[in-house]
Order: sequence, then C-alpha cells, then structure tokens
Amino acid sequence: MTKHALITGITGQDGSYLAELLLSKGYKVFGLRRRTSVPILENLEHLKNEIEFIDGDLLDMGSLINAVRISNPDEVYNLAAQSFVATSWIQPVSTGLATGIGVTNMLEAVRLTKPDARFYQASSSEMFGKVVETPQKETTPFYPRSPYGVAKVYGHWITVNYRESYNMYACSGILFNHESPRRGIEFVTRKVTDAAVRIKLGLQTELRMGNLDAQRDWGFAGDYVKAMWLMLQQDKPEDFVISTGETHSIEELVEIAFTHVGLNWRDYIVVDQKFVRPAEVDLLLGDCTKAKEKLGWELEVGFEQLVKMMVDSDMKKISNIK
Ligand code: NDP
Ligand code: GDP
Repeated sequence: MTKHALITGITGQDGSYLAELLLSKGYKVFGLRRRTSVPILENLEHLKNEIEFIDGDLLDMGSLINAVRISNPDEVYNLAAQSFVATSWIQPVSTGLATGIGVTNMLEAVRLTKPDARFYQASSSEMFGKVVETPQKETTPFYPRSPYGVAKVYGHWITVNYRESYNMYACSGILFNHESPRRGIEFVTRKVTDAAVRIKLGLQTELRMGNLDAQRDWGFAGDYVKAMWLMLQQDKPEDFVISTGETHSIEELVEIAFTHVGLNWRDYIVVDQKFVRPAEVDLLLGDCTKAKEKLGWELEVGFEQLVKMMVDSDMKKISNIK
C-alpha cells in the first residue's frame, strides 16, 4: 500500500527537501499551500507535477480538516510557521497565531478526521533561547527570547499534550538551525552567501549586518529532514534534538563565505543597529546523542561544506541572471 504524507509548509526550505525524500521513498505527497497573488514555487519547480497541492491555511481549521480528508494521510508533517525570528517582533500576534495556535488547529484537524495519522511538529532550538545549560538536549528547560520562540514553546507543549491526552502518535523534532541553497534570503547564512557573491560580481558594495558574535549550531536541511521521517517510524512517539554538536559565530560564517569568493570580509561588512535584535540568543549548541542512538540518524554535511555549497549555488544563480 502506498503511504500518504501531508506536508504543511511545503513551499518552504524544509518542505521541499522533505517532499523530495518522501517521493524517493515511494510516498504519495500532498502539500498544503496558501493562495498567493502570483505563483511562488521556487523551491518546488522541479517537483510540482509530483505533488498534489491542497489549498489551505494554518489559521483556517476548516481548510485543514479538508486537507486531512482529501489526503487521508499516514503521516502529517507540520512545517508551516512564520519562521523568521526578526519578523516576530514586528508581527508578534500573527506569529503567535501561525506558529503557535496553528499547531493546535492542525492537531485538531488530525484528531477529528484521521486520529491514527502520525504527526510531526517542527519545534526549534530557539525555545532554548537564553540557554540554561550547554549543550542543550531534550531535557534542557526552555527560555525563549522572541515572540517566535514563545510561540514555538506553545506549539511544542500542545503536541506533547495531544500525545498524552489522546494517545496520538505526535512528536516534535527540536531542530537546531539548518540551512541550504533554498534558505530564505533574510536568514543570516543566505544573506551572507548571497552578498559575498554580489560583491564579488560588482553588484553590491557592502553588507549591513547585526550582531556578529552570536553563535549557532548550523546543519544542512537535507540531513535534517531525514530525522523528521525517522521520528515517525519508531514504535512510540518521542521528541528528539537534532543538531551537529558544533557551534560557530556569525563572524566565522562571514569569513568562510567571503574567503571562498576570494574577498576579505573586513573590507565590506558594516554593523548596522537596524539588524541588532531587541533580545538575542547568544549561543546555541545541541547534543543529539539520543537521535544518534535511537534513530540511527547521522549527519553528512559539515559547516564549512554547507557554507561553500550555498556560496556556489548563489554564484550559479546570480551569474545566470546578471
Ligand atoms: P520556511 O520559512 O522556509 O517555510 C515556512 C512555510 O510555512 C512556508 O511554506 C510558508 O508558506 C508556510 N506558512 C507560513 N504561514 C502559514 C500559514 N498561516 N498557513 C499555511 N502555511 C504557512 O521555513 P523552514 O522550511 O526553514 O522551516 C520549517 C519549519 O521548521 C518551520 O516551522 C520553522 O519554524 C521550523 N524550524 C526551522 C529551523 C531552520 O533552521 N530552518 C530550525 C527549527 C525549526 P508560504 O510560502 O505561503 O509563505
Ligand atoms: P535564527 O537563529 O532563527 O534567528 O536565525 P537567523 O539566521 O535569522 O539569525 C542567526 C543569528 O545571526 C542571530 O543571532 C542574529 O542576531 C544574527 N545576525 C547578525 N546579523 C544578522 C543579519 O543581518 N540578519 C540576520 N537574519 N541575522 C543576523
């Protein structure tokens, strides 16, 4: 029997990698998609004929019930969210609705329509925020530092609650930052790789950034979606931290990207208060021992390789349109 998967957030970075993975495993993939005034399927252009799209929005529970009915899923991956931390201070309410309450809407749609479907929630290392221990693991208490982080804590606990209240197979992956050539342009990795290329090609003269001292545990999105799938193949639902176990500063990221195109980053970076956040997450470093041991999950792409992959991809894209 062909397995069915429903992915929310399919147009985003992770949605596109997960769709690729599930299609390669023989799944029928359904994707929840919001109406847009112009078609935006940049990440899915190569897959669009293999996916069945269903119109809907996390804020509209009727549309979610409809999506579950149509897709009749064995597995539901709830990846949709307002996912950019900086925007969450500008739009705290809509972030709370999509990133927090949206999870309850999706869980309710599954509970009412297909309660035996397995449910994955995209939790985040941003929940650790002002970290109370290092490295962070499944038992580390949360201390979110942004409206986004607060909404993710709600989404995380409501998923635990549905597991405990209704005995649903519902679990969360607490994923540390993961990036790729498909990462949104406003996130720091992609902002840096895109700018390094534009400066190299003479299309831009400087790069304005915020706090260069923050440290992140960055992995490759293609590796991380494998962990999502593995979490739904276990005997019982559990939450897992997914990370690389290495941390690097924004300055290190900038240095690798600029050096890769033959430039000295110090000649081009301008610190601009506009990009400094009202509250910062200074350091993230994950301990994914549980995922390695129980899921057999392994990392394939390291940090430097990831940054170079993103620079090379941006070079190809931007050179083609120049
Ligand atoms: P993206 O921002 O690339 O994708 C977000 C997706 O959510 C898009 O498809 C977007 O659709 C959709 N979406 C947003 N709001 C709604 C809504 N109201 N209804 C339906 N769809 C909506 O995120 P990523 O792929 O990077 O991340 C996937 C998930 O993992 C997110 O929940 C994110 O918060 C979480 N996460 C990500 C991490 C990372 O480092 N990437 C780390 C930890 C957690 P549209 O195209 O229409 O805007
Ligand atoms: P986040 O960890 O989900 O917030 O991912 P981001 O990629 O948006 O940010 C990672 C870190 O980079 C944060 O500590 C930011 O403060 C820092 N940072 C420094 N300058 C910038 C910038 O210009 N843009 C972004 N997005 N982040 C920046």
